[in-house]
Amino acid sequence: MDFEFSEEQVMLRDAVRRTMDRLATPDLLRQLDRDQAYPYTLYDAWIQQGLMQMPFPESIGGLGGSVMDMVIIAEELSRKGFDLFTAYSSNVFCGLTLMRKGTAEQQQAWLPPLLDGRLRMSISMSEPDAGSDLSGMRTKARRDGDDWIISGRKLWATGAGARNNFINVYARTNANADYRQGMSLFLVKNDSPGLELKKLDMLGRRSVGTYELHFDDVRVPGDQLIGEVDKGWDCLLSGLQYERVTSTAGYCGAAQSVVDMALDYAKDRRQFGKPLVENQAIAHMLADMQTEVDASRLLLWHAAWRLMKGHDALRAISMAKLFGSETYVKVANQGMQILGAFGYSMEYDMQRHYRDARSTTIGAGTSQIQRNLIARLMVSGKM
Ligand SMILES: Cc1cc2nc3c(=O)[nH]c(=O)nc-3n(C[C@H](O)[C@H](O)[C@H](O)COP(=O)(O)OP(=O)(O)OC[C@H]3O[C@@H](n4cnc5c(N)ncnc54)[C@H](O)[C@@H]3O)c2cc1C
Repeated sequence: MDFEFSEEQVMLRDAVRRTMDRLATPDLLRQLDRDQAYPYTLYDAWIQQGLMQMPFPESIGGLGGSVMDMVIIAEELSRKGFDLFTAYSSNVFCGLTLMRKGTAEQQQAWLPPLLDGRLRMSISMSEPDAGSDLSGMRTKARRDGDDWIISGRKLWATGAGARNNFINVYARTNANADYRQGMSLFLVKNDSPGLELKKLDMLGRRSVGTYELHFDDVRVPGDQLIGEVDKGWDCLLSGLQYERVTSTAGYCGAAQSVVDMALDYAKDRRQFGKPLVENQAIAHMLADMQTEVDASRLLLWHAAWRLMKGHDALRAISMAKLFGSETYVKVANQGMQILGAFGYSMEYDMQRHYRDARSTTIGAGTSQIQRNLIARLMVSGKM
């Protein structure tokens, strides 16, 4: 077993860290959160650094990066905030779905502009009645000549309102079939006639933003249906494991940043004539926090390794996702305690982590759904 990063991976990690340290300053992060403003300057820097090209094959202008390379990038971007990472990750996930399920023409049409930053992509499945259980999906798409017409309502669409964004919309194309055989995936420009976007007032992840979408007979050209008609479920499943692994890397990076912040504060802050960290109650809290973040990272690396090797990875990925997200929530809560009233102040970044962390046991499959899945795989003896 080898836990060492390659020389290239160390260079990648250091380069992304340097970029983020230089550009994602505390002032900028506070302003983006306060003004609910999309991180365009950071996004442009990631494009220039080639990060969007990283996971795609060279044949399409990518750099052919591995799952582990993406784990490294995810952790580094998320150190400054998990919210920021979602601006990057939704594009990667959508692009990889196109790579797996799109036709050669669709790949040529959509991937180069995605990789060089001319357009963005986000994902929209959830609806008022369709959360963990997508059988409640009501948004419909019907044929009209060569086009499709979408009507319905979507919720919680991260980053849908960003400039030049094409939303990857899942909609029912066969009302009589089970959703797994009756929904399809469409690329819908976010300023299409008939589509109305509303930015929702959420507790956290306020920079990239979470949107409600109303589709009032939105016309979509036929060549913007990805994969086969009624095969949207296959598109969704094809990338789920990769999405959960990289998101978990994001939780680890953000949680590590929380621990670092709490440790620095506990070393600096003096009460009763000594630094906070010299109180065993605080030192033990910090020791538990780092231990749990390291345990999350080891679960993550194991899951990433299984995925890279092509082994069954669902159980390992679900465990890593479950533990990583719950650890982020837990350490952010402990970090708030260690920083006292300063943690509760909007002038310090701990409260932003505390708010952002709370979304991670809900999005990308809730903790309860991960536990259901892990238990089911245990019962059936599968990995
Ligand atoms: C910040 C944020 C960003 C998001 N971004 C996106 C996005 O970009 N695109 C998108 O499509 N969606 C997005 N979502 C939606 C997300 O995918 C859903 O919130 C998630 O699937 C859970 O659905 P729900 O919130 O409707 O909860 P529900 O499914 O209604 O669940 C409510 C509670 O019941 C529990 N529960 C449900 N079923 C079971 C069960 N069988 N056994 C035990 N417990 C159960 C859940 O774990 C949860 O605790 C986002 C959500 C958040 C919070």
